[in-house]
Amino acid sequence: MQLTLWTYEGPPHVGAMRIATSMREVHYVLHAPQGDTYADLLFTMIERRDKRPPVTYTTFQARDLGGDTANLVVSAVRDAYERFKPQALLVGDSCTAELIQDQSGALAMGMNLPVPVVPLELPAYSKKENWGASETFYHLVRAMVGSAKRERPQRSAGQRPKANLLGPTALGFRSRDDVREVRALLESVGVDVHVVAPWDATPAQLQSLTDADFNICLYPEIALTTASWLQRTQGMPFVKTVPIGVGATRDFLTEVGQLAGVDVSDALDAAQSRLPWYSRSVDSTYLTGKRVFIFADGTHAIAAARIARDELGFTVVGLGTYSREMARDVREAAQQYGLEALISDDYLEVEAAIAAAAPELVLGSQMERHIAKRLGVPCAVISGPFHVQDVPARHSPQMGWEGANVIFDAWVHPLMMGLEEHLIGMFREDFEFGEHGSHHGKAPAKRQEPEPLLVAVAAGAPAWTADGEKELKKIPFFVRKKARMNTEKFAVERGIAQIGVDTLYEAKAHYGK
Ligand code: SF4
Repeated sequence: MQLTLWTYEGPPHVGAMRIATSMREVHYVLHAPQGDTYADLLFTMIERRDKRPPVTYTTFQARDLGGDTANLVVSAVRDAYERFKPQALLVGDSCTAELIQDQSGALAMGMNLPVPVVPLELPAYSKKENWGASETFYHLVRAMVGSAKRERPQRSAGQRPKANLLGPTALGFRSRDDVREVRALLESVGVDVHVVAPWDATPAQLQSLTDADFNICLYPEIALTTASWLQRTQGMPFVKTVPIGVGATRDFLTEVGQLAGVDVSDALDAAQSRLPWYSRSVDSTYLTGKRVFIFADGTHAIAAARIARDELGFTVVGLGTYSREMARDVREAAQQYGLEALISDDYLEVEAAIAAAAPELVLGSQMERHIAKRLGVPCAVISGPFHVQDVPARHSPQMGWEGANVIFDAWVHPLMMGLEEHLIGMFREDFEFGEHGSHHGKAPAKRQEPEPLLVAVAAGAPAWTADGEKELKKIPFFVRKKARMNTEKFAVERGIAQIGVDTLYEAKAHYGK
C-alpha cells in the first residue's frame, strides 16, 4: 500500500457503493469503522444526489476492537433488513474492517433472511474502485439470474427486438445523460430498451435480464464481466462498441443492427452531429495537428484517441490509463498511434509524462486538469474521477450524436481560450494593448488626442504620413507592430524620410520575397 495525496480510484467498497447507490430496492451493509462514512460525500457532494446512498455502516470504534465486532455485523444486517425491507442485501467490509476478518458476508448469509444476500469479498489492498463495482454488479446479477440456462421468450411476429443497457452507474462520467442518448439511438433503429442496469434498476428487474434479445456493454470497466457471463451461461450476445464519437456511434449502430436483425441504414444516413462539419470548417482548421495527451479510464481514453485523430485531426502524443483491468485494450489502441501506453495510477508519473510530451491540449480526469493547469496547457475532463463542476445541470452526454457535439465544444473551447491567452501574452506590449488600451487590456485613463497629420517618431527615424498610418491600421493588430518596424527599417536603409502607403507596400513586397 502506498500513501498518496490524490488517487484515481477509491477502494473497492466504494465501487460496491456505486452499484448500490445506482439501484433501487438494494441495501448495502458495510462493516467499517467510524470515519469511513466519508464515502457518502462522494455521492451527495460531487454528484449532487439528493439522498444518501443506501448504506448502513457498522461504525465500530477503537474500543470495540477488543470485543465482539462480529456481533455488530449481525445486528446491523438485521436492523437494515427490518428498516429498509430491500429486495436484495449486499454485505461486505471496508479496507480497515477487512483487517479484523469478521467474515461479515458469511455471517449475513448464515442469518437466513428471506431475500438474497450477496457477500462481497473485495480485496482492498490489491484491487480498486472500478473492479469493486464490476464484481459487485456481477455477483448481484448472478444471484438474481442464477446459473441455470433460461429459455428466452420467442419474439412474436412484428415484435421489436429488446436490449439491456449494462454499465451506467452513480459517479460514472455522464452516465445519466449517456443513457438518454443511447435510448434515442436504439429508438432510431426500432430497438426497445428492456432493462438499464445497474442505473435505476431493481433486483427484480435483474431477474428478467434474460428476457431481452441481447445486451449492450456501455462501460467495459463496470459491465464487461457481467455481459461476458450472460453470454457464456445464457447465450446472450452483447454489443461491444462504445458509441463515443461519430465513427464509434456509426459502428455501434451497425453492430446493433447485426445483433437485432434490423436495417440501420436510414439511421446512419440521418446521422445528426455537427462535429464533422465543425471540425472541417474554416474556424477550426487551426486545430489540425494539435498535440494532444490523453489519460483517463480505459473506456474514455480509447474513445478519445479515436476522435482526436480521426474526427478532429489532432496528433495523439500520449495515451494512457489508470484502469489496470483495461491495460491490454489501451496498449493495443496506443499501438495504432505509434505510442507506448502509459499504464499507471501514480499521478506524479503521469505529470512527468505530460510535461515530457509537451502537448497543446490535455484530455483527462480532474487529476490531469490540475496537472495541465500547473503546466499552463488547455485541458478538458473526459472521464472520472471528476469534480462537482463535471456534473452539469444541463444534458451533457458523451455518447451518440449529441455526445459528439458536446465533445467538440468541450475540447475545442479550451484550445480557443488557450490561443486567446497566448495572443494576449504575446502582444501585451503592442499598441492595441499598451499605449492606448483595448477591451483586452487597460482602458485609457483619458480621452486620446486627435492624431497629428504627421506622426512624430524618434529623431532620425522616418515619419509616417496620415495615409500611411491609416493603411497600417488595416493590418491585424497582432502583426502590426512587426509590420511597422520592418517598414521603418526598410525606409531608413533607403533614406526615405516619410512613410506613405507606397513605402508600406514596397516594404511588404521586399520582406515577402
Ligand atoms: S482505510 Fe479505506 S475506507 Fe478508510 S479512508 Fe482509507 S481508503 Fe477510505
